[in-house]
Amino acid sequence: MPAAPLTTTCCVVGGGPAGMMLGLLLARAGIDVTVLEKHADFLRDFRGDTVHASTLQLMDELGLLHEFLQRPHQELRHLAVEIGGETMQVVDFSHLPTRCKFIALMPQWDFLDFLAGHASRLANFRLLMRTEATGLLHDGDGVAGITARGPDGTLDIRAHLVVATDGRHSTMRDAAGLRCIESGAPMDVLWLRLERRDSDPSETLGRIGAGHMLVTLDRGDYWQCGYVIAKGGFESLRNRGIDALRQDLVRLAPHFRDRVDAIASWDDVKLLTVAMNKLEHWYQRGLLLIGDAAHAMSPVGGVGINLAVQDAVAAANILTPGLLRGNVTLADLRAVQRRREFPVRLTQSVQWMIQKRVISNVLRSTAPPRPPWPVRLLHRHAWLRRLPARALGIGFRPEHVRPV
Ligand SMILES: Cc1cc2nc3c(=O)[nH]c(=O)nc-3n(C[C@H](O)[C@H](O)[C@H](O)COP(=O)(O)OP(=O)(O)OC[C@H]3O[C@@H](n4cnc5c(N)ncnc54)[C@H](O)[C@@H]3O)c2cc1C
Repeated sequence: MPAAPLTTTCCVVGGGPAGMMLGLLLARAGIDVTVLEKHADFLRDFRGDTVHASTLQLMDELGLLHEFLQRPHQELRHLAVEIGGETMQVVDFSHLPTRCKFIALMPQWDFLDFLAGHASRLANFRLLMRTEATGLLHDGDGVAGITARGPDGTLDIRAHLVVATDGRHSTMRDAAGLRCIESGAPMDVLWLRLERRDSDPSETLGRIGAGHMLVTLDRGDYWQCGYVIAKGGFESLRNRGIDALRQDLVRLAPHFRDRVDAIASWDDVKLLTVAMNKLEHWYQRGLLLIGDAAHAMSPVGGVGINLAVQDAVAAANILTPGLLRGNVTLADLRAVQRRREFPVRLTQSVQWMIQKRVISNVLRSTAPPRPPWPVRLLHRHAWLRRLPARALGIGFRPEHVRPV
């Protein structure tokens, strides 16, 4: 039996970084908000762990930073890259004009759990776990809610506004028939873990060799490794066997020689099919899309979580007055797209350039590469490393939480 329809002011579909942040901000502003998450908890596969300085700044503005940093995390203050055996310093976060002069590495489920915990203390916040939105409800020419499947069967949720934060494979986007423009990407990424030992090189590093790239993130007792392969190359690597992957990793990071056997099978490897796209229109009457649902980012720079959070803050700032009045207009929804489209477009342009100029060339190369001149320049002049730190750590057009 379908349950009686639920009514809420704002229905947020998807409990990822964009959805949980938006839910918290709207509830904090006194708006009745319902967030749906199809999974039973936030404990899923590795989905990126980088909480940038811009997001930490928002936590500070919310008065939550001190408590947030009590959760286990690592702090990344510098970035280096090893190219053809030479280690080059390229990014220095220690001069950022933000409260935290670092990137925090924290499992995404901890971050989401933290936001959910704080939002749940607010009376007008409702989080429905194990509840999957399946379609949109319409009223005249606008969206008036969603249909969903929950632990007790199907249900309808009527809402003044639906915000789709359901990620890069957005069901709501398909249901609305919105068009996505693909930019393409030359690579996919294989994510895996390897034990970390005290004798290992200490830095978080990108390693570049002939035809191969490896990113290693220090996660305390293990390394989170991202092995970059040519787009669609996973099948041929699989056919070469798991030992071929182990050898590739050792070639790039010889200190892994004594532990690559821990990668027992392909079950220990998670494929991220890289996509970069954006919606032409982020909204329809009664519906807004933000985060990965509106623009999937390339993993270059690890900015996806942070852009999703920035979208949520912008949406909350722009839409709160209309939601409190019960009258969000098309102009309000357009204003959210206008505000966020510029930083998304600029970030994707930089990612596209790095994919084309650096990653494609490396993946095609057969000889050991040499550090290009911009990298040599960054390595030679410490002050120059503050520029990429700003672009990465803060991003373009950072948002700020409005006081309530
Ligand atoms: C393997 C991997 C590694 C990554 N590494 C990084 C990184 O290091 N740094 C970084 O910044 N970004 C990284 N990203 C990207 C980052 O995870 C995303 O950009 C970011 O999570 C986007 O947030 P979001 O809230 O828009 O969407 P998502 O995080 O995708 O959240 C969407 C949520 O909606 C839920 N959902 C989906 N459909 C429905 C439905 N119909 N009904 C109800 N719920 C639904 C999903 O379960 C999910 O919880 C990585 C992504 C992957 C896959």
